[in-house]
Amino acid sequence: MKLELQNIAETSLSIIYPRHCPVCDGLVKTIEIKDGKLITGRLLHEACNRKVKRISGNTCVKCGKLLGSGHEEDEYCYDCTRTRHFFDRGFSVFEYRSISGSIYRFKYMGRQEYATFYGREIKKKYGDKLRKLGIEAIIPVPMYKNKEVIRGYNQAAVLAESISKLINIPVYRDVVVRTRNTKAMKELDARGRRNNLKKAFNIARNDVKFKCILIIDDIYTTGSTIDEIAHEFRIAGVKKIYCLSLAIGQTT
Ligand SMILES: [Zn+2]
Ligand SMILES: [Zn+2]
Repeated sequence: MKLELQNIAETSLSIIYPRHCPVCDGLVKTIEIKDGKLITGRLLHEACNRKVKRISGNTCVKCGKLLGSGHEEDEYCYDCTRTRHFFDRGFSVFEYRSISGSIYRFKYMGRQEYATFYGREIKKKYGDKLRKLGIEAIIPVPMYKNKEVIRGYNQAAVLAESISKLINIPVYRDVVVRTRNTKAMKELDARGRRNNLKKAFNIARNDVKFKCILIIDDIYTTGSTIDEIAHEFRIAGVKKIYCLSLAIGQTT
């Protein structure tokens, strides 16, 4: 019943605002008449759905990255054998290269509507697992305040809200804040990324005592952003820290 209502709400919205396919950005028929009945259409084109690569097969037990050919039997990916992470376990849904254009538009071009598709994909793959982990709070990776004002939204928070609704775990946006405006990570190498993030995050609230949290970000590359935040939460006494990203790169 809940899902039906949600569909109706989304359908009504899409009459006013046409929906864009999260893969090609073309318009998608959100309502269709089939056999004389009004039905809700898809969120993306059938062909586009086949183009996207979802993470499947053997993954690194730490970060969730797909293990490369010849390394399928390994426990950890190359990066995780060299780096100590502060989180317990990471999950991801898509192979980065197959969805990078989509995430770019989601992040920089106002396509917040893609979050509906992303959220459903996350629920499909990890919904049951996440519920069993006993997560009390979903924490989106925060943006520097001024940057968020300029962009108008924090894509990680939009993603977090979309997942939250589907798995019924609350989002806490004000628990951790970004205290420095860090350089765009893509301009830096691995060492630069770590230095760039030093003391970039602060736990803003001492009154929230979580034992188990899930940190959300759009892309996982080296994990340095998540590690910085996870480190702060460890100090604050959080016992179990999981992270979930929409897309993950290949091992370097
Ligand atoms: Zn499409
Ligand atoms: Zn790994």
